[in-house]
Amino acid sequence: MKYSQRIEKLPPYLFAEIDRKKKAAIDRGVDVISLGVGDPDRPTPPHIVKAGQEAMAKPSNHQYPFGAGLMPFRQAIAAFMQRRFNVTLDPASDIYSLIGSKEGLGHLPLAFMDPGQVALVPDPAYPVYKNATLFAGGEPHLMPLNEARGFLPDLGAIPKDILRRARLLFLNYPNNPVAAVAPRAFLEEAVAFAKKNNLVVAYDNAYSEMYFEQAPLSFLEIPGAKDIGIEFHSLSKTFNMTGWRIGWVCGNPELIKGLAQIKDSIDSGAFQAIQEAGIAALNGPQTYVDDMRALYRNRRDLFVDLMRKAGWALPSPPATFYIWAHAPKGFTSTETAGKLLDEAGVVCAPGVGFGPSGEGFVRFALTVDEPRLKQAVERISRVVWQK
Ligand SMILES: *Cc1c(COP(=O)(O)O)cnc(C)c1O
Repeated sequence: MKYSQRIEKLPPYLFAEIDRKKKAAIDRGVDVISLGVGDPDRPTPPHIVKAGQEAMAKPSNHQYPFGAGLMPFRQAIAAFMQRRFNVTLDPASDIYSLIGSKEGLGHLPLAFMDPGQVALVPDPAYPVYKNATLFAGGEPHLMPLNEARGFLPDLGAIPKDILRRARLLFLNYPNNPVAAVAPRAFLEEAVAFAKKNNLVVAYDNAYSEMYFEQAPLSFLEIPGAKDIGIEFHSLSKTFNMTGWRIGWVCGNPELIKGLAQIKDSIDSGAFQAIQEAGIAALNGPQTYVDDMRALYRNRRDLFVDLMRKAGWALPSPPATFYIWAHAPKGFTSTETAGKLLDEAGVVCAPGVGFGPSGEGFVRFALTVDEPRLKQAVERISRVVWQK
């Protein structure tokens, strides 16, 4: 089949080899433990499911949703942003519902980039930023996230000729896959940098509630951020709602208007029953979110502790349900992931799949229960790292 150039230009799918091996192992009868995909294993809290069920029965929700979303949903979002970050937003102009934050991030470059323009994209990163840039005919410029810099990009190292053509700056903290958070000083630097260089900042805050130490910031807390930025939020990780497809974008109203024009031509909004479930999630008891944090903190502590005892020096991340681990000495990230699958029946994501700077790392997602995590470490501890 002859596909479009934008499809031909997509980077090779680097998880394909692991996927193939995983399926082959399952076919051989191997009891595979999957720490590969970042998808919560726990169900959506029952009060949210119930609100969704009731909303689904209402005929008024059966028609096209169109536009920014239900006003009560946007009001619940505004209340959350106020309560959690002390960020004041106007539900009429500063908030727009999304069919999952991935949808908004994926459409964003179509609104702000022309061919020949550059998007500044972290490396490693969630693949959507780079691929969406390519779809819009833009040029991704990768900004390495190095451990030595706390996994923050070196904005001062971006070449002048790239900066002249740059239009979009993608940032994501708490970060997938490196599990780092950004200090306030970096966000202030990013605001000043974006203003100086005429950039639009797209801040992905999908993991804002999945933290174990200090609560992460909103980019919009930084003075001036709303002049140049929009922030993407998701109910997926906070409320175990990945399958529901619901999130939002908020911040600068002119930027939101641009994205809205693209969306109006491509989709017709998020199912209103699911927006009603979102209202229940945001306005309902937040003890479920506390429980979610406790669950992943316990898993993190167990996994990191046992892995360290088994001789693998893992960091203990401050946020997200990922562990970004150095591959054993002498092994590439793909070799490490392959060996863990072949010899331990454990799936992880090779770091290089998130960008060239992910080489030398693998990502473990803590999306199985504690007995299963223990079993994973027992098996991993028996792997001999010798060539
Ligand atoms: C999971 C994730 C999202 C959220 O995606 P949804 O489309 O809202 O489910 C966004 N960004 C990153 C980095 C993620 O890992």
